[in-house]
Amino acid sequence: MNLQLTPTQRDVQARARELCGEHIAPRALLRDASAEFPLDDLRRLADAGLMGVNIAAELGGLEAGVVAYSLAVQAVAKADPAVAVTMAVNNMVGEVLAYFGTDAQKQELVPKMTSGEFSSGSFCLSEPGSGSDAAGMLTRATRTSEGWRINGTKAWITSGAYAGVFLVWAQTSVDGEDPGISLFIVDPTLEGISVGPPEEKMGQHASNTVSLAFDDVLIPADAVLGELGKGFRIAMMALDGGRIGIASQSIGIADAALELATEAGVGKHPQSADAFEMMHARVEAARQLTLRAAWLKESGSSNFSREASMAKLMASEVANEVARQCLALVGPAAAAYDHPLAKLVRDARVTRIYEGTSEIQRVVIARDLIRNGAA
Ligand SMILES: Cc1cc2nc3c(=O)[nH]c(=O)nc-3n(C[C@H](O)[C@H](O)[C@H](O)COP(=O)(O)OP(=O)(O)OC[C@H]3O[C@@H](n4cnc5c(N)ncnc54)[C@H](O)[C@@H]3O)c2cc1C
Repeated sequence: MNLQLTPTQRDVQARARELCGEHIAPRALLRDASAEFPLDDLRRLADAGLMGVNIAAELGGLEAGVVAYSLAVQAVAKADPAVAVTMAVNNMVGEVLAYFGTDAQKQELVPKMTSGEFSSGSFCLSEPGSGSDAAGMLTRATRTSEGWRINGTKAWITSGAYAGVFLVWAQTSVDGEDPGISLFIVDPTLEGISVGPPEEKMGQHASNTVSLAFDDVLIPADAVLGELGKGFRIAMMALDGGRIGIASQSIGIADAALELATEAGVGKHPQSADAFEMMHARVEAARQLTLRAAWLKESGSSNFSREASMAKLMASEVANEVARQCLALVGPAAAAYDHPLAKLVRDARVTRIYEGTSEIQRVVIARDLIRNGAA
């Protein structure tokens, strides 16, 4: 692994930082207070190529790789974690379409995601009764003479009220047979889809999270993404990559907390210096773990699950601890609901939940250790 950033990686990082300094960071508190979906910022991210960092140039992506993607998400999350998660999910959905789609599916949809024509895409896996146990989903797609008919409910779907495309996982029925879970491309404007009210979350207010109900939604026969019955495997592969995104988001949150604490003078006093230095060291350790997982994915490693889970587990735990500790060291003023440090404490919490909880990351790591041994 090359520990020096390449010129391309530095360029992507600089682009993201510039855009964030000018547009995303200055409005972060306001965006949080109004819970306004960041349509303008998403358009700016698309214009800068950041809605498809690891997607081929012929599909409108930057083709800059996974390390560059991680650096971009870190920068955006430092400015506003809510914008970063929306960007990360869009990149993940775009990558799944670009990797598993037929030429026609790719050409039709991916350029709309990378260019900003679609503000975002949604990854519709979780349901009210199945999150960690994703295979227990109840949503069903039944083959009919007209195509596929989808029934079921998805829960906690990021960007669900705004997405230009849904990737929907469902149990599959074909002539009474059940080939397993398949993945479907669904147009969000179709009849039979209802979008629930935005979830009132403790943090990341400007990211949109909704439930989606599918009531006899008819989609075309060719809307299957990847192989029929192989959707669960696609979900797991996508989540490995997605975890690098959330680890990167977590590091951005920790970076922001450390910067705010430094500006408040924390670290200058002997009482706080030890704790502060240790926090910096832990954030750096999480960053290196995340960049390593990103590099493994970028180098075409067939199995980077363990590293992605370790990065997500470590970075999300560190982000939560660092945000809380910085708030404590800055003092009571930072505990006001609309103080930027209080916002980071609120924003950090969900990094331990989505794309697999910390407990699930431990399960993934343990299984891989048992199967493949220690490094
Ligand atoms: C803000 C937000 C945005 C989200 N965005 C999306 C999205 O865009 N798309 C999407 O599909 N989903 C999304 N999710 C859903 C998220 O992925 C799930 O909430 C998460 O996977 C946990 O599932 P659950 O909520 O059903 O909890 P459960 O699976 O019921 O877990 C409850 C608790 O039990 C623990 N637990 C469960 N199983 C085990 C086990 N085997 N061993 C040890 N402990 C276990 C969990 O760690 C957790 O602490 C989002 C969630 C949130 C909060």
